[in-house]
Amino acid sequence: MRMGIALVLALLVIAPTLSISGAQEGTEAPLGCQLSFDGNLANESVGFQTSLGPRIPGSAASSELRESIKSNLTGWHITESTHHVNGMVLTNLYATWNKGAGSTVMFAAHYDSRSAGDKDWNESRHDEPIDGANDGASGVAVLIELARHIPSMNLSHEVTLFFTDGEDQGDYNSQAGWILGAKAWGENLTQEEADSIESFILVDMIGDSDLTIGKTYPGNSSLWDRTEEKILFLDEVCELGPSNYFDFERTDGIYDDHVPAHELGIPAIDIIDTRYGENASYLGGHWHTHNDTADKVSAESLGKIGFILESGLLTGSWSNVRVIDDGEIEEIDFEPELVEENEELEESQDDSEMVIGILLVVCILLVWGNLVWLIFADNRGEG
Ligand SMILES: [Zn+2]
Repeated sequence: MRMGIALVLALLVIAPTLSISGAQEGTEAPLGCQLSFDGNLANESVGFQTSLGPRIPGSAASSELRESIKSNLTGWHITESTHHVNGMVLTNLYATWNKGAGSTVMFAAHYDSRSAGDKDWNESRHDEPIDGANDGASGVAVLIELARHIPSMNLSHEVTLFFTDGEDQGDYNSQAGWILGAKAWGENLTQEEADSIESFILVDMIGDSDLTIGKTYPGNSSLWDRTEEKILFLDEVCELGPSNYFDFERTDGIYDDHVPAHELGIPAIDIIDTRYGENASYLGGHWHTHNDTADKVSAESLGKIGFILESGLLTGSWSNVRVIDDGEIEEIDFEPELVEENEELEESQDDSEMVIGILLVVCILLVWGNLVWLIFADNRGEG
């Protein structure tokens, strides 16, 4: 009898505690919203990189930057590859986390800066190298800052950061002189190696303080869908700022470091702001001019892109892209999927409320049961 009463009292004490812990779970930020990427640190990296001077392939500044990147990536598996192309010595740098785990998610950025400011208004300066704060340093800065947080994510797949050389040294008359480092990488990759890469996400010119991004082609449609979903998710679910920097209607063509990966059948996209500066036209504005300086880049813009990549890693957005890339995905609108995510969230909250409800009913039944038993026992002269 006393044990029965003790059990009821214990349950009555536990039940409110359970409902409190249930309520706390409900207020926790959804998976993929608790983000650590620091746009200010990325912005500091842009300042550091431009302070080295132009990172022209084969230059001392280029080598200094590679050494700095490597020193920032302790614990990562680091390799380099050297390629002699068009009279230049190119060095690609690769850093891998979880080496050997497979299903690689690859993030890429070019670390070279253009040797000629040949789109500058001032023709007498067309031969001078540019700072490349946005065109070069911004992508590298995002990758380095992202790398600080990857070790604590407990990911079960490989992540490779690919710092490409010789992206930006071509002339405008042909495609031949561009993306040389990425091309050399693609040419030396076996099909088996290519097939082990789940996704390839290039970030280029993403630091513009007047950030305006849209989709680009060539590019994998599933990967773009995931990216658009993520951008809306960060805005509407995480409430981490408006998504209006992304134009969901616009698609620009761009020949960039993602092309060799795309041609190898790897799901690849290029996240790039092709309109650098306020009201800039496509590949106009500060692009390849002496105005591509650190003051045109902002921590806020770098942070937006960093959040997309970081949140995507936390929610698995960049994995299993090949599995569902059968063409049908293109028919699916991203908005209903976002609604689904919200519904799932509400469902999980409903579930915990239901468990608490059942526990309370059990408690009440036990109290009543004990009372009935007490009365019954009293009538029999017990108790
Ligand atoms: Zn460029």
